[in-house]
Amino acid sequence: MRLHLLPFLCTLLLSQALAGGDDSAVPTRICGTRTFSDTERAEREARFRLAYAGARSELRTTWSVVKTVTLPVWFHVIYKRDSDGRRLGFVPKAVVQKQIDVMNKAYRGSGFQFRLAGISRTENATWFDGCMDDSTLEESFKALLARNPARNLNMYSCNSASGTLGYAYFPADGPEGDYHHGVVLKYDSLPGGADPFGDGITAVHEVGHYLGLYHTFEGGCSVTGDEVSDTPSERRPAFGCAVYRDSCGGRVGKDPVANYMDYSDDSCMSTFSIGQIERMQQQVSAYRPALLE
Ligand SMILES: [Zn+2]
Repeated sequence: MRLHLLPFLCTLLLSQALAGGDDSAVPTRICGTRTFSDTERAEREARFRLAYAGARSELRTTWSVVKTVTLPVWFHVIYKRDSDGRRLGFVPKAVVQKQIDVMNKAYRGSGFQFRLAGISRTENATWFDGCMDDSTLEESFKALLARNPARNLNMYSCNSASGTLGYAYFPADGPEGDYHHGVVLKYDSLPGGADPFGDGITAVHEVGHYLGLYHTFEGGCSVTGDEVSDTPSERRPAFGCAVYRDSCGGRVGKDPVANYMDYSDDSCMSTFSIGQIERMQQQVSAYRPALLE
């Protein structure tokens, strides 16, 4: 089944540093993500409220207070060999486990934890280099590799010719069992990868999308913004670690640059808000109840 929404494309581009007249190239995390107009987002939220109201009553309680759901993770390593026969992107199991550990630390107290259910490895140079930027390739590798998406979080590592860091789909973007669900990651965004995005935080961010979170700057300074009431409004993505920024002056709170759903450097991002945690729980209750069984 084909989803009709574009994936989130979180892109790492080399751009010129602007601050202080520094003209050296610094990597910045940006998203070529599909964003929503206020009208589109309002329509999605109306459908979400209906879906949540229709969820089984036991799923509409604050279930994380009484239990934590541990999501099984199937991790699919896609790699290729270079001209010397060396394997590029052949992520060792220890790194996969470190990625799971980073996710568990970030999601501690949210009601979500993760455990490694299995690893698959596929040598395919076309998939490796084109996984982020070619929807036809996405169809082929996900259709073949995805393991029961209704009950497992499928994660894929590969390369990105454009520098894309990763992408995911929202829970509302397709039925629970749709093989598009999951998270695709650039292999050197995993722990031990390339600074400033080599601490595994990209996966934390993409799993946030997978569980229903928008970027903190979604909607800019609009009243509804990212549909989470306790993340301060933000006019645009934050890069680096701009901790004193306040891009929607007059609204309460400085920009949430340390939030996992912004675009700061890995070392800067360290928090989800209570409202985001509630939203993830409600999104899963509404759209992905099989994950809770
Ligand atoms: Zn994103």
